Amino acid sequence: MAAKVSIGVDIGGTNTEFGIVDGDGKVIERAMITTPKKDNINQFIDDLSTGIKRLVSKYSDFDYQGIGVGAPDGNFYKGTIEHASNLPFQGVIPFVSLLKERFPEMKKIALTNDANAAALGEMLYGGAKGMKNFIMITIGTGLGSGFVVNGELMYGSDGFAGELGHVTVTSEGRECGCGQFGHLETYCSATGMVRTAFELLSHHNATESLLANKSFNQTTSKDIFDAAKKGDEIALTVFEITGDILGQALADAVHISSPEAIFLFGGPVASGELLFKPVRESMESHLMPMFRGKVKVLPSRLRQGEAAILGASALVYK
Ligand SMILES: [Zn+2]
Repeated sequence: MAAKVSIGVDIGGTNTEFGIVDGDGKVIERAMITTPKKDNINQFIDDLSTGIKRLVSKYSDFDYQGIGVGAPDGNFYKGTIEHASNLPFQGVIPFVSLLKERFPEMKKIALTNDANAAALGEMLYGGAKGMKNFIMITIGTGLGSGFVVNGELMYGSDGFAGELGHVTVTSEGRECGCGQFGHLETYCSATGMVRTAFELLSHHNATESLLANKSFNQTTSKDIFDAAKKGDEIALTVFEITGDILGQALADAVHISSPEAIFLFGGPVASGELLFKPVRESMESHLMPMFRGKVKVLPSRLRQGEAAILGASALVYK
């Protein structure tokens, strides 16, 4: 009997990756196209479809279960990408319908937002195997989150539930990409960490800091990690502040959904205990007594480069 596989597609601001994933979560082969800079959705769908068809024809012996798509501002209920701030496509794109026109033979085509897809990946192939209640946090340019409650992803009435990145952690705080102020992701994303570093550099006039010689646009969260490992005071303080704010927000999330575990995914997670220690301490200190000492905060078990494709492919089975 032919092996059952699915196709995962991850639409990012710069690149769109896709691949064939087997039932054990192994990426058999993957490919990539550039996400267009201009709003030309039909050309993009054509290019993506051609790429997928090329892979499928190379592995024509498999039993294809469907295509799962992870995209920023993806709506699971409607199969649409809606007003995505990091993609060039304007308005509401009926992405699933457009793909179905190109793949009428596929049993299932589904779409969700990228953080929800990562949560599904963690549940099927990662550290959340067997868990019915957990939260996935993806830390990158922004902060995404997927809430799994009673074994199901929480979508809410309109399909957009679980936007922890846009809870307010400080009123009149930093400006967020969504247009509001003081949201979690303006502090606890990779870019938020850089913003914190530059505030500290300026405030302390820290000309001797290892972070003082690069421009704002050139600095990454990896630079902050590297500087912290060398004992740089500013970099160490960035981790303390980031962990403190994230831990507080996670405590709020625990109060709402009572997860077994919270998984952190993304570049800054490689910083290990520098990030996890202040996160755990802050979360515990903000928790109500009945939740204390129960909720694990863990690094994602999905591999950095594969998580998005894996998660999207898992959508076919949900
Ligand atoms: Zn926001």
